[in-house]
Order: sequence, then C-alpha cells, then structure tokens
Amino acid sequence: MNDEITLLNCDKEPIHIPGRIQSHGFIVISSPDTLRVDQISENVVSFLGEEYSSYLGKELGIILSNQTITSIKNFIAKQDFSLFNPQKITIKTKEQEKTFNLICSLSNNILILEFEPFIENEQSTDSYFYYSFNTALTKIQATKNLDELFEVTAEQVKQLIDYDRVMIYRFDKDWHGEVVGEARNENIEPFFGLHYPHTDIPAQARELYLRNWIRLITDVNSPQPLIHPTLNPNTNKPVDLSDTILRATSPIHIEYLKNMGVVGTLTISIIFKGKLWGLFACHNYSPKFISYNLRITCELIGKVFSNHLDYKQADHDNKYRDLIKSNNASIIEKMSEKWNIVDGLIKSTTNILNLNEASGAALYYDEEVYLLGQTPSNDQIKVIAEYLNKTSENLIVTNELSTIVPEAINFKDKASGLMAVKISENEYVMWFKPEVIQTVNWGGKPDEKNIVVEDNKVRLSPRKSFEKWSQVVENKSTEWKDSEIEVAEQLRENIINIVLKNSTQLKKLNKELKYQRDALASKNDELLNFAYIASHDLKEPLRMIISYNQLLLKKYKDQLDEGAIDFIQYSVDGGNRMKVLIESLLQYAKIGYDSNDFTDVNINEVVGNCLANLSFAIKEKDVKIEIDNMPTIKGDKILLILLFQNLVGNAIKYGSKNSPKIKISFKELKEEYCFCISDNGIGIEEKEFENIFAMFKRLHSKSEFEGTGIGLATCKKIVEYHKGNIWVESDPGKGSQFYFTIKKDLDE
Ligand code: ADP
Repeated sequence: MNDEITLLNCDKEPIHIPGRIQSHGFIVISSPDTLRVDQISENVVSFLGEEYSSYLGKELGIILSNQTITSIKNFIAKQDFSLFNPQKITIKTKEQEKTFNLICSLSNNILILEFEPFIENEQSTDSYFYYSFNTALTKIQATKNLDELFEVTAEQVKQLIDYDRVMIYRFDKDWHGEVVGEARNENIEPFFGLHYPHTDIPAQARELYLRNWIRLITDVNSPQPLIHPTLNPNTNKPVDLSDTILRATSPIHIEYLKNMGVVGTLTISIIFKGKLWGLFACHNYSPKFISYNLRITCELIGKVFSNHLDYKQADHDNKYRDLIKSNNASIIEKMSEKWNIVDGLIKSTTNILNLNEASGAALYYDEEVYLLGQTPSNDQIKVIAEYLNKTSENLIVTNELSTIVPEAINFKDKASGLMAVKISENEYVMWFKPEVIQTVNWGGKPDEKNIVVEDNKVRLSPRKSFEKWSQVVENKSTEWKDSEIEVAEQLRENIINIVLKNSTQLKKLNKELKYQRDALASKNDELLNFAYIASHDLKEPLRMIISYNQLLLKKYKDQLDEGAIDFIQYSVDGGNRMKVLIESLLQYAKIGYDSNDFTDVNINEVVGNCLANLSFAIKEKDVKIEIDNMPTIKGDKILLILLFQNLVGNAIKYGSKNSPKIKISFKELKEEYCFCISDNGIGIEEKEFENIFAMFKRLHSKSEFEGTGIGLATCKKIVEYHKGNIWVESDPGKGSQFYFTIKKDLDE
C-alpha cells in the first residue's frame, strides 16, 4: 500500500502489454528469423482443436501453408505488411477446414500473426465495401456546417456497422470529452451534449488512439485468453501489442464499460492536424465483431471526416479571421501613418475592440490607461499589469483570470477572460470578456472513480454512475479563438516595431534638435558679441563725434553763425540718440544671457529703485503715483527693475498732461503673479495692441515723443524670460493698463 492512489493512477496501467488477447481470434508470436512459434494464445484450441503447447517451438508451417510463409518472408523483408493484410487463409483442422483473416505486424523485430475468423457474408465483399464507403462519402461531402457534419457522419457510421449507438466525442484542451454528434437506436437514452472527464480516457489510451485508428472490443464479458509463455523467449519481456487488433482490454476499462452496460465497442480515432481531436465511440449492448474490411471502411470515414473538419472549420473561421486581419491591418496603418500608437489603437473608428469578440479593451502605455467598452477600472488594470509583469510571457490568454489575478474575482463581470500582449514592463494591450455562467452536463459525476480494496490490494475502480450530472461553471468567460490569438500576436509585433522606430526617430529628432539648439546658441553668442562689439566699438567713435562737436560749439561758438551752430547741435543730439539706441539694443540682447539665477526679489524694492531712477521726470511732470504693497517673488532683480522702469517711464511719457496719475498694482493668482501699470494718458488704439511690443515699433514721431521703440520689446523679452505674458488694455484718450505676469515656479 505504498503507492498513493489517485485518479490518475490508471494513467500508469501498462495497457499495451497486457499478456492477454480478446477471445474472438488467436495470436501467434514468432521471430522473423526463425519463423517458429515462440508464443501462442491459449485459446488456439477453440479454433484449431489442439492445445497451445502442441504448437510451441514448431515451425509456422504447422499452421500456415508454404505459400503464405513465402509471402510473409517477402513482407518481412519490406518491413511493411500493409499490402499483405488481411490475408484470407484456410487452415485444416482435424474436423474441417477453417477460413481466417490473417493480419501480420512487426513489433520491435517480433513477428505477430493475428487470426480472425473470416465471416463469409455480403459485408465481406469488395463491392459492399465500395458501395458503403461511397454512400458515406457523398453524404459527408454534402454537409454544410460542422453540426451537420457531426450528425451525418455519426449516422453513416451507424448504418455501416449497425451498433446501438455511435457518438462523435470531441476532446477539449484539458482532454475532457463532449458528445457533439450521435446516432442511436430510439429505445436508448441520448448522450448527445454530455461531457466526460479526462480520466475516462487516460493518457496512454489516447496515445494508442493516435497510433492506431481503430480499436475493437467485441465482448467485455468473454474471458481474455493468456499468451504462452508470458515473456517472449528471445527478449524475456512481454510483447508490445500496441499495433494489434486482438490486444486484450484493460480490466479498468472493461469494468468501466460494464458499469455503463456496454458489451461491445468500436473506437475510430479522429486525428486533426496531427492531434487526437476526438473519437467515434461506438457502443453495442451485445457482443459484436466487425470484419477487417468494415473496419478499414470506418478508418477511411474517420480520415474523410478529419479532412472535412479541417475544411468546414476553416470555412467557418476564415471569414472571421479575414475580417479581424483586415481590421488589424487598418489599425497598423493608422499607427504607422502618424507614428502614434495611442491614436492608432484607440482613437480610430477601427480600434483594438474590432480585433476579437472582447467586450472591453485597454491600452496601458506610457503610464496612461486608455479604455474602450466594458473594462475594469484604471486601478484594477494596473493590478492586472503587476501580475503580468511577473511572467516572462509576451502573450497571456486565459478564460479564467482569477486563477492568475485573484483580485479579478471582484470584477469578473467585466474581466473573467483576459488576453494581453506585452509591449514592455507595465505597458500592455488588454482585452476583456465577461463571466459567462455555464451549465455543463456530465455523463455522470466526473470524480466518481473509486478506490476499491480487493484481496488485500488497493486499486481504482472506474465510476459506476453515468447518471446525467449538471455542473454550474462560474468565473469563466468564453474561450479566445486561435485566430484572435494569432491577430493579437501580430499586433504586438507591429506595436513593438513602431515603438522601436519611434525611439530611433526620437533619437534622430533629439540629435537634430540639439544640433539646432547649438547652432542657435552660437548664433546668439555671435549676435551678443556683435551687440557688444557694436556698442563698444561704436560708442567710442560716437563719444568722439559728440565730444568734438560739443568742443567745437564751446570753443568756436563766437566765430560760427547761427546756422552752423544749429547744425552742430543737431549732430550732438543725433549722436546722443544713437548712444541711447545702442545702449538699449545692448540691454535687449543681454536679457537671459548674462543674467544671474533667479533669487527672491522684493518688488517693493524694485519699484523703489525704478522710481528713484525716474524721479526727475516724476517731479517735472508732477505725477501722482499710487502703489500697492508688492510681494516678494522669484526673479532676476536687475531685469525686473528694467521692466518696471520701461513701463512706468512710458506711463509718464505718454501720460496725461494735466494731472498725470499712475497706479502700480498686483494680484496673486494660482500659478503666477499679475502686475499692472496703468495711466490716465493718451491711450492706444486696439489695432495697435499687439504691434507695440515689436522691436522699433513706435506710434509717434520723435518730435511728439522721444523714444527708440525698443522699450516694450525689451519688456516682452524680460517677461517671457520669467515665463509670463504681457499685454495691454486701453481706452484711447483715457489711459492704458499694461499687464504682465511672472510665473511662481520658474523651474518648471
Ligand atoms: P518708445 O521708445 O517709443 O516708448 P516703446 O517700445 O516703449 O518705445 O513703446 C512703443 C510704443 O508704444 C510707443 O512709441 C508708444 O506709441 C506706445 N506706448 C507705449 N507705452 C504707452 C503708454 N503708456 N500709453 C500710450 N502709448 C504707449
């Protein structure tokens, strides 16, 4: 009792080396070299009238004619008996001649000869074989869809072999089976639609079904004769009977069939794309033998069925596959057009929701979650991504998300099914399907294999109950289709390509940008240098022009007439204006270049400095100035003084002639300070509001108002340097309000 007994234990039963056969025929095992009887089944006596022992060690000639032996030798040389089988032979016994179908095979260089009684009837003729196969083929070909294919093929097989029940049994991915087609006698209950657990057909049985297309059990109640001796004298091992038709049935399977009330079975494998797709499971409630020819016909029908399965399934899937592939192509085109993943995947009319039957989809990209349709919340999507990050898989497909992400049980109505493709860590495209509560009808309770203690031994006995048992399946969505998975994989590849190209593109752009920035910086430096050189080099000759002209006036005033004096005075004035212009230009060019870091600047001090610099004009024009209590802000003090000075200077210059008033006020906003310098002067027409901030733009002649047209351009540059805006509001004739903002956080 050391072995642990589990349901899967019957997976270990060595069903290919049972040491016994079924009793409807007898078996002889020989060596291809000696062609002697090395082993023989004990039931030979019931066919040939002699005990098995009388054959052991004898040449095959004791049973077979020389002609048959010669033929066998030929086929041994070819290592293939497919053109030999079955060989109709007659064996003379003491009483009579008996006809058999001889079927030969080679197993690990051991020759196996199976003898099945030949039944002479209509069904054994070639014309019957041809006719029945042709009829079945025509009917199968005429079916229009899968359901019809299942129904018609089951019916054709039933007509051919005349069993009580013929089922088409389809395996799912976990090897549970479902009856998808059935033809049966009317007096027996239907099994159509019932499910059977994977333990009903264990792995090694499935392996044999993949190897041999046909399995016949003629009578579960008849004894299963032994092969003598049990071990092959040449190998000292039991002979592998995998490829034989007479191979005995496993006791567990016999018990299973008996529990079901079934006496004879014929099983035909349905192999689709190299995999065991399902079986024709044929049940008879009394013993039944099926001749070799008929079995071959069934095998052919199985193959035709598999082909049609491919074709019908493909036809059904192809339309859908074509549709989602073309949607995928249009999404990829959109993405590549703009090099923009989000726009392509989410924002177009054809988007990721058109790539499968999901009810919701999400794109988690660049730390943003974008949702479409019925989906979990943003936070829940992030939780899913955390779990997905732990796997190395690039494609995750499940119809029971809670098995991967336990929290998903809370949003199973939105996401019991998940298909996700990974773009990179924390970047996914996800599709969701809601829970679909299903009732699965089982042909008996699936876990009903029992542990039985018999003769002090523990063994498994198969389940006894085949009563319909309904199971409610929760937390699961419908399955994802192969074509949907294929398209998701394609989409992932394309996204990755675009991401990669984007990053190369970005690198290129960055490089270009850096190049342009460097070029601009050097241009600016050049300009600045130019401004310095101009100011420095021009200032000196200019100073000379002005001072020599002034000297001229001073020294030779008496010798000059009035006209000459005026001319010289004009030159001095012009020279002085030029000096102002050059200095203003220099000031403008320097903004942002040789400025210091931003520091805390008390604007009360700034305004104080500015008014001190303008004190002469203020006094002269008797300007009334009202000032709010100003804040301390981050900024460049020198530039801010220049800013206020320009604006207040203009307010004085363009202010009222009679009783000039200036107000300097401010307002603290959420992200910035807003200052205002208002006057009650000449004002500005609305059409000039923008223009006055341009370099050299003046609205008045020099004779009306002195000026360079650089002041407001300088103000604009200073404000922009402090990440703010400057604008004007005005009522011509009544006054102007110049507003500017300074950003609180200048590091942003
Ligand atoms: P300027 O050296 O001519 O003052 P600015 O750049 O400072 O140069 O101003 C440009 C023009 O904007 C000025 O010529 C003037 O016409 C107009 N302007 C500036 N400030 C005011 C103001 N407070 N009131 C009316 N007009 C103004």
